[in-house]
Amino acid sequence: MKLTFMGTAGARFMVAKQLAASGGLYLELGSTRLAMDPGPGAVVQYAKRKVDLTRLDGILVSHRHLDHCGDVNVLIEAMTEGGFRPRGTVFCPADALDEDPVVLKYLRHFPNELVRLQPDTAYQLKDIAFRTTRRHIHGVETYGFRFGDPASPSLGWVTDSKYYDGIAEDHRADVMLIHTVLTQSRPELPHLGLDDAERIIREARPRLAIITHFGSTPLVACATMRTITVAPSSFARAALATTSAAAPSFTPGALPAVTVPSFLKAGLRARSTSMVVSSRGPSSLSNITGGWPFFFAGISTGTICDLKRHSLTADNALR
Ligand SMILES: [Zn+2]
Repeated sequence: MKLTFMGTAGARFMVAKQLAASGGLYLELGSTRLAMDPGPGAVVQYAKRKVDLTRLDGILVSHRHLDHCGDVNVLIEAMTEGGFRPRGTVFCPADALDEDPVVLKYLRHFPNELVRLQPDTAYQLKDIAFRTTRRHIHGVETYGFRFGDPASPSLGWVTDSKYYDGIAEDHRADVMLIHTVLTQSRPELPHLGLDDAERIIREARPRLAIITHFGSTPLVACATMRTITVAPSSFARAALATTSAAAPSFTPGALPAVTVPSFLKAGLRARSTSMVVSSRGPSSLSNITGGWPFFFAGISTGTICDLKRHSLTADNALR
């Protein structure tokens, strides 16, 4: 299974300013290719990485907020060569089609199939098997996902949601992606904070946790070592423990370690380099899980380890 970050931005401000790209995720397994949450600019990010969109097998939209589906119509047209070659399956919640539709009617017959996602239901797209979670707490109809063998899922994707009891279990998998828009969760906002991400990681104990879909505040928090140093949470201590360890290795049952983005200048250089090497080209789960027990996803526009881009984005974010 190979996962490429076509963006790591979450929330309107990040998208509007393109502090990080907002193209969502691209999953490949065997010969199956799935675009997930193609937000604004996705088509640009796919083109940058020379992904041939006419070979996509499907598009999966977790919910109809613009940062998750801004380019869904563009990708449907690209996948089907402007509708001349019907192809692929589009999966999305029913309200993305029925209530305030984000998939335009004129191109709904371009894909072979349109699937309205149901809660807690299994789906198969050629080699890719996935299952929706219960409905997330997020205003519009939103689902999280687990990919792979239901008995031991390889990827859990915690999409936008407010924290709820059972969220860790719903998405428990070998590798977990956690959409973390806020630094600190707020009762009035239906988004996860870093504090929620910590709870989820501690409960689910994935082998690798990737925090992504950043709002601007966690981006700043991640980008400022000082902020992380003084943060009073054990999450921050876990981060520090990892950054100060010479050669972290994963011990089952040990506290989940969480590393900070590779743009941080905190003695991470050597390990960052190895991460860059191991994931040169499109970042891939199999590559990354080789050396890194846990880490924050970088604030990247595409591959996780685009160091130049990281520093650029961090600088911008800190201004
Ligand atoms: Zn949302």
